[in-house]
Amino acid sequence: MEGTPPRIDLSLIENRLMELGHVEAVHDLHVWTITSGMDAMSCHLIVSNGAKVDETLKRGHQMMRDEFAITKTTIQIEKPGLHENGVNTETKTMKSGPQPPP
Ligand SMILES: [Zn+2]
Repeated sequence: MEGTPPRIDLSLIENRLMELGHVEAVHDLHVWTITSGMDAMSCHLIVSNGAKVDETLKRGHQMMRDEFAITKTTIQIEKPGLHENGVNTETKTMKSGPQPPP
């Protein structure tokens, strides 16, 4: 993946995030270098309904800093089925209503 720091193993990060507890899936995982010696990470975590969101976020941030020396971490917590139901982070146009002029 272009821009991923060579010392970062994305599959290892994914595996470690899965071990946070109540994490069912990880996607949109990206790691990149902001500036020399400073890496950033962002990902989406799908958590089960019993998950403690605050605790998962806190431990995720700590894990990135302590285990991977990633100082800028952005984690988005999602519930199962979010993407499947069409509720996406992408901007979607309305299915009903008047069509915009060509
Ligand atoms: Zn997502």
